[in-house]
Amino acid sequence: MSIDRELKKRAGDKCELCGSVDHLEIHTVAPIKDESLDKSLLACKTCVSQIEDPEITDPNHWRCLNDSMWSEHQPVQVIAWRMLSRLRKEGWPQDLLDMMYMEDEVLEFAKSTGEGEADPEKLIHRDVNGVILEHGDSVVLIKDLKIKGSSQIAKQGTAVRNIRLDHENENYIEGKVGPTLTVIITEYVKKL
Ligand SMILES: [Zn+2]
Repeated sequence: MSIDRELKKRAGDKCELCGSVDHLEIHTVAPIKDESLDKSLLACKTCVSQIEDPEITDPNHWRCLNDSMWSEHQPVQVIAWRMLSRLRKEGWPQDLLDMMYMEDEVLEFAKSTGEGEADPEKLIHRDVNGVILEHGDSVVLIKDLKIKGSSQIAKQGTAVRNIRLDHENENYIEGKVGPTLTVIITEYVKKL
C-alpha cells in the first residue's frame, strides 16, 4: 500500500490534529523530508499552514490538541508538542504540556527544531547592529565611554572580552575595561 493510502487509513480520512475532513494533505514533520508512516501525518490545510507559519497561528484552532495530543502516533505527538510549546504563553497549552507523556527519544526529536525554546521572559541583548549578544562574547566599543565612578575614558575601538548580560535590562551589558568592571550600553558596542 502506498504511504498516502496507509496514512489515510490510519487517520480515518481525517486531519490527525483537528479532525477536519477538508483539504487533507500529507505533512512530514520537520526537519525530515521523506514521507513515511513514522514521520508523516495526515493534516488539513489549516493545520499545515499554521504549523509552517508562526505568524498566523491561531491559538483557538489548537484547542483540538486537547484530544489529539493523546494520539499513539509519534508524528502527531511531535506536532502537538511543538504547537503547544509555541503557544505556551496562553496558559492552557502549558497545562496540556505538563500532562503530555512522550518517550524520551520522541521528545528529543520534538525539540530538534528549537520550537518552544525561546523563553518569552528572557531578555534579548543586541548590539548596535541588532546582533544578539551572549554571555562570554567579545565586543568592541563604537563610542568613547566614560567609566562610571572614575575619570577614566575607554576609547572607541577598545575591545571588551567575556561580557556578562544584565538580567534586568536588555540595554545593558557588563564587561571589564582595563581592570574595572563597568556597565556598558548595548547600542555602544559591536559584537566581535
Ligand atoms: Zn487540521
